[in-house]
Amino acid sequence: MRIGTPLGPDPTRVLLLGSGELGKEVAIAFQRLGVEVVAVDRYPHAPAHQVAHRWHAIDMTDPVTLATLIEQESPDLVVPEIEAIATNALTEIEAAGTTVVPTARATRLTMDREGIRRLAAEELGLPTSPYAFADTLDEVHAAVTRIGLPCVLKPVISSSGKGQSVLKSPDDVEAAWDHARTAGRVADPRVIVEGFVEFDYEVTQLTVRHAGGTSFCAPIGHLQAHGDYIESWQPQPMSDAAAAASRDVAGRLTESLGGYGVFGVELFVRGDEVLFSEVSPRPHDTGLVTLATQRLSEFELHARAVLGLPVDTALHSPGASAVVYGGGDMVAPAYEGVADALTVPGADLRLFGKPDATERRRMGVAVAHADDVDTARSRAREAAAHVRPVPAPQRAGRAR
Ligand code: AMP
Repeated sequence: MRIGTPLGPDPTRVLLLGSGELGKEVAIAFQRLGVEVVAVDRYPHAPAHQVAHRWHAIDMTDPVTLATLIEQESPDLVVPEIEAIATNALTEIEAAGTTVVPTARATRLTMDREGIRRLAAEELGLPTSPYAFADTLDEVHAAVTRIGLPCVLKPVISSSGKGQSVLKSPDDVEAAWDHARTAGRVADPRVIVEGFVEFDYEVTQLTVRHAGGTSFCAPIGHLQAHGDYIESWQPQPMSDAAAAASRDVAGRLTESLGGYGVFGVELFVRGDEVLFSEVSPRPHDTGLVTLATQRLSEFELHARAVLGLPVDTALHSPGASAVVYGGGDMVAPAYEGVADALTVPGADLRLFGKPDATERRRMGVAVAHADDVDTARSRAREAAAHVRPVPAPQRAGRAR
């Protein structure tokens, strides 16, 4: 493996598809290794745009637009950071000889809930909640009857809880179907109906496939609200049997997806039993905690793995993360309370620099380390609570 000089005649060039907060950290990790970074998103001034050598704002769901940009940039590696990409274009790019991380097939299978669920449950025989797919209200009624109540209804093309409902009675079916249709990414969605899992806790098992084999990070515990993560911590205490089952499920699934990189395998744990839920073939939002806990964060692990470099998944210290939300609609907000947040012992902060805020938009994250997870969690929460996005003063912009 040789790394060229960025902006020189023969750089090692990475094209990041998706430039959110996770992409920003991946871009920084590549930058530190002297890799040329081109960041792409659908809107300008996205977080990773701000730390890249070059950036583009395009519609990544349009195969022609995407293929044209990839041809123009001719990257060594295409690194998707989000699901909403024209994955058929990636399949063609890969066939023509450009590496897609981890593989074009993995990005295609994980872009909707059906591909990955069928692979995990039907091909690999991994334990999951019972499930059924439906395209019409009648089919949803039939699926709910088959799966039983309570259950969860989700658009197959969706993430972070969008369009998702928990159904407790047959009377909930219509509202859940309407919610999936209005909140999902497509107008008339196919949905998955999953049995509701009464888990003791849920974990993200970060798994790294790299030139030297497969390595596992310590399990990450997390708390969700409205299908979005609000806090995570590492390590999550687990029985030896549950920890071994997690690594077994994650190892089998990621082996089947193939390629190099970090995978965030989401699992539900009940006693010693582990059920597969979902996987991201890239760093995971709950893994932001690794900025405080591991010698190499999940972003550095991803950069190293995809470049064919050695990795080290060792845990350095227990730690936690807590999300800073927008709290309201604002353009170019300012942030107050940053100094107070950074006086919390062991705490650190990432402000993503997103151009505008909404109530539930993730604008930053506080991370903290401590001797134990409980202390780390209260430190991360305290630091995050100090940070307040506020409206920018009404005045003409400063000259650049
Ligand atoms: P997802 O968008 O599928 O990752 O779901 C977001 C969150 O909703 C998960 O992290 C769980 O906390 C919860 N959830 C999703 N599916 C189920 C299920 N079948 N049973 C119980 N909780 C679920």
